[in-house]
Amino acid sequence: MISQQLLGWYSLNKRILPWRETKDPYKIWISEIMLQQTQVATVIPYYEKWMKSFPNIEALAQADYNHVLKHWEGLGYYSRCRNIHATAKSLNGKLPETFNELIKLPGIGEYTAKTILAIAYNKQEVGVDTNLERVGFRLLGLKKKSKFNNNRVKKYLENIQDKAKPGDFNQALMDLGSSLCQAKAVDCMPCPITAGCKASTNDDPLKYPEMKKNKPSPTVNVAVCIIIYKSKLLLMQRPKDKMLGGLWEFPGGKIKKGETKEDAVIREVFEETRLNINNPKYLGEVKHQYSHFKVKISLFQHNIKDISNLKIKEKYLWTTIKGLDNLALPKANHKMLDIFKKNK
Ligand code: SF4
Repeated sequence: MISQQLLGWYSLNKRILPWRETKDPYKIWISEIMLQQTQVATVIPYYEKWMKSFPNIEALAQADYNHVLKHWEGLGYYSRCRNIHATAKSLNGKLPETFNELIKLPGIGEYTAKTILAIAYNKQEVGVDTNLERVGFRLLGLKKKSKFNNNRVKKYLENIQDKAKPGDFNQALMDLGSSLCQAKAVDCMPCPITAGCKASTNDDPLKYPEMKKNKPSPTVNVAVCIIIYKSKLLLMQRPKDKMLGGLWEFPGGKIKKGETKEDAVIREVFEETRLNINNPKYLGEVKHQYSHFKVKISLFQHNIKDISNLKIKEKYLWTTIKGLDNLALPKANHKMLDIFKKNK
């Protein structure tokens, strides 16, 4: 009953999204990974560009990783991109069709595996992401987040799932959770499943489930230098297994307690490159927010004449500003480039 009402509503209200025009498991997989922690509107242009360059698993597997990473630049959580590429290389051009095989692939967890199976292969699986979980908690009138209650919600959604249209059922709940039944806003009047929803008959549906209070994120102070040698800029590649793995950045690092930003940038550049920069020119400040912390970056520039001491553990290169178009940089480094260009 709930499922029929939900599917009726979905047929009239579903969002038109590029990955909904296909049942291609590869395309469903890429869209689902891109959508993790990321808004639909942000994902659409990334998805479209990606599919033009890598229309299938073979094309992706054969592509150079730097080229693949450039397509992910700005989407964040770069391990997702690394895992996608590693998975594409490990497959023979086709995603497996069973949960046990999918779950073994890098970057594919329970939610993604079940969602691919439901949407692309029409298997009776429910991929429970935060949207589906929230709707389930509200339907059952559960407040407390716990392993036990999470499992109750999963089982409940599996029970009410439309067995003939598992993909539509998943997507209908996704759409309901991102429209009428959001975390901080509900609209129960036009909701197709009000009659079966315990939270809607109680005091305030927004209290289901109880939300954790976010801790304020700390600020990290950093000093960075754009080093220029013969009109080229020095960039270093971040280790692939670290945060922002594989992206290219300017040298720099954390300002220690009691250290001035000038002292910090001279020390950091020396530690990372063995280059001595005296009197770097201060260009300005960049602020950037990551998921769990903020950075305040003091940006410097230094035109260097002698690079005979240059020694860098990580991969590095010298590039013109035009050459940066082929490299994937963290968003904060793009902000730094904007300041640098204004100061030129
Ligand atoms: S009735 Fe209200 S609380 Fe319940 S699922 Fe619909 S929008 Fe959410």
